[in-house]
Amino acid sequence: MASPVVTSIELTSLPKVASGKVRDLYEVDDKTLLFLTTDRISAYDVIMGNGVPSKGAVLTQMSAHWFRVLSERVPGLKTHLLTLAPPTSLSPAEKDLVRGRSMQVRKLKVFPIEVIVRGYITGSAWNEYKKSGTVHGLPQPTGLQQCSPFPKAIYTPSTKAPLGQHDENITPAQAAKIVGERYADRIEALALQVYNTGAAYARERGIIIADTKFEFGLDQETDQIVLIDEVLTPDSSRFWPADEYEVGRDQNSFDKQFLRNWLIQEGLKYKEGVAMPADIAEATAARYKDAFQRLSGKTLEEALAAL
Ligand code: ATP
Ligand code: MG
Repeated sequence: MASPVVTSIELTSLPKVASGKVRDLYEVDDKTLLFLTTDRISAYDVIMGNGVPSKGAVLTQMSAHWFRVLSERVPGLKTHLLTLAPPTSLSPAEKDLVRGRSMQVRKLKVFPIEVIVRGYITGSAWNEYKKSGTVHGLPQPTGLQQCSPFPKAIYTPSTKAPLGQHDENITPAQAAKIVGERYADRIEALALQVYNTGAAYARERGIIIADTKFEFGLDQETDQIVLIDEVLTPDSSRFWPADEYEVGRDQNSFDKQFLRNWLIQEGLKYKEGVAMPADIAEATAARYKDAFQRLSGKTLEEALAAL
């Protein structure tokens, strides 16, 4: 049976601590959060009125897959994932509701920047480069074309704007002032290592991860930097199908292209709360599931059955 589309999760057994564009966060205890990923989807910074079937499960299982792969390949990497099992305090109905989309994670102090790494030049980076030859204020080689790879992936942080506002691109030096000099270099080195490892892994599986946004937290007891939030998903990254990649033009986005094309065609770009037709939602779901299967080698159903 297909599971229902879930666009908000209301649990009564635990206190809700936050609700973002895609996630609802509950507190399990003073050290643990229940990190729940809904089927909400946003395009052009606007959340659609309906959700994408299975999206919350795909994002959760994909992040879990990456946490395993990256922990094996990046020496010393710490992540916030504790378990995919729901807290024992949930009622049976609540456990059913969160199945596949739940992670218990370590509650940490979040560094208040978006830790962006770019392997290819596109989006706001391409716009800045065309004007000034720089990206986040950092000088770049001449002759890059739209969607060219950078000679080496670069760390291009941004501010973390509150819901509804836009993040602002900043230089690594500005980011260091926000997170503190004590942590800045370690965050940068870790982000580049995680991106390079993940991008190479995805490239072997037919997906170019053009750029991505990580979040890091601080374990205040050990002073360790911890990889938190979702990791290397199509929501936090630009995924491009490698077999369609061509330098010098815009690339199709792996997951949201159907939705974006439909919003543009209907003249609904930037309109709040629009409902997508069922075929657009289904086609989008199929792309998310395809990305999961390419990366993990398993279907979503297989991953869920193994929980
Ligand atoms: P978007 O991802 O679309 O920019 P968002 O980040 O505001 O939106 P969600 O992804 O829906 O929101 O919610 C996740 C929230 O949980 C983020 O605010 C993130 O900083 C926070 N978070 C992630 N991991 C942890 C953690 N281990 N401890 C504390 N907060 C966390
Ligand atoms: Mg987020």
